[in-house]
Amino acid sequence: MESVRKGLRSGAIEKDTYERLNCAECGEELDTKNDPDEIGTVRVCPGCGREWKKVG
Ligand SMILES: [Zn+2]
Repeated sequence: MESVRKGLRSGAIEKDTYERLNCAECGEELDTKNDPDEIGTVRVCPGCGREWKKVG
């Protein structure tokens, strides 16, 4: 799973004017979920199901 930081850098995630993270492909705001197998939180797109992990 890619990090949110990498997703932002590659353009897969866009940050809007309110600092919210949006999936560039769907335009959907990313949901947050806590995955016990991952450190930190996971941001998931409700449109395409793609996930990025947010560390720290
Ligand atoms: Zn998406």
